Amino acid sequence: MKKISMIIPCYNEEGNVQLFFENAIKTYKDSKKYIIELIFIDDGSKDNTLNELKEIAKTKECIVKVLSFSRNFGKESVIYAGLNAATGDYTVLIDADMQQPPSLTLKMAELLDKEEDVDCVCYYQSKRIEGKLMSKVKGLFYKTMNKISDVELKQGASDFRMFRANVRKALLLLDERCRFTKGIFSWVGFKTSYLPYTPEKRVHGTSKWNPYKLFKYAMEGIVSFSTKPLKLATFLGLFLSILSGIYLLVVLIQKIFIGIDIPGYPTIITLILLLGGIQLFCIGIIGEYISKIYLESKDRPIYIVKEEISNDK
Ligand code: UDP
Ligand code: MG
Repeated sequence: MKKISMIIPCYNEEGNVQLFFENAIKTYKDSKKYIIELIFIDDGSKDNTLNELKEIAKTKECIVKVLSFSRNFGKESVIYAGLNAATGDYTVLIDADMQQPPSLTLKMAELLDKEEDVDCVCYYQSKRIEGKLMSKVKGLFYKTMNKISDVELKQGASDFRMFRANVRKALLLLDERCRFTKGIFSWVGFKTSYLPYTPEKRVHGTSKWNPYKLFKYAMEGIVSFSTKPLKLATFLGLFLSILSGIYLLVVLIQKIFIGIDIPGYPTIITLILLLGGIQLFCIGIIGEYISKIYLESKDRPIYIVKEEISNDK
């Protein structure tokens, strides 16, 4: 029998975890091929999620591990903790809110069984459920990222993935603090199969994402996996120097040969503002990278566990 470890991040999911558990059990109840290990990680929830999880951990139907963080560390840290705790032949990342139905994991496991050269199966959103503008912005992010970074991201690929133990071990080698999981998956390589899916509606609670958080996450992705923005300053500087050289020539020719006086004030103000803006922009980009170096060099732990419960003695 193969063991499937499910890593389930839970942040304020009191209304969903029980439903998730029942669904996961139902999916694998009659399976002769797989046993499941549910690794619920409570990411510092402020509601009753942890108590719900403790109730679930009393079950005898499957292995249940519950890790509870000392505060909210974010989904990326949760995934790392889950990878550390997982022991299965296959590991799957799946949300607790039922947007990613547990029943779909069976399809992923069967695909890994059948195709031995495939190490990772990933669901991607074939049809985006958010608004048109958001889909456009996300699409643009994927395009930019693929152009400027060394990693290749598939449009709409989610964290809903199942992979073999060799991939799990490789992922654990990347113990950086600024974690952009989509990039990390692409960076470690391995043959990945993509399956289309449409996420369900959230059963209870609300999404933890908002446009600002998404923007920050996108920046994190770019800074973690590309150094191209740093080169922007060099190119901008070079471009502006050449431009100003040409302009100087034009002004001199006008003055010496045609005798036109140059109206100075507006030109100077505009140029000062333009150059000031560009310089601040470039310093800002450098600042983003320095802040990452600062965070990484502190070498703080990625997460802190407050409590650990398991029915697998
Ligand atoms: N989550 C988490 N920590 C956080 C934010 C989210 O563990 O700080 C979990 C959340 O409980 C859910 C999953 O990550 O199981 C996905 O979050 P959400 O549903 O808010 O994201 P969306 O589906 O809207 O992309
Ligand atoms: Mg969700």
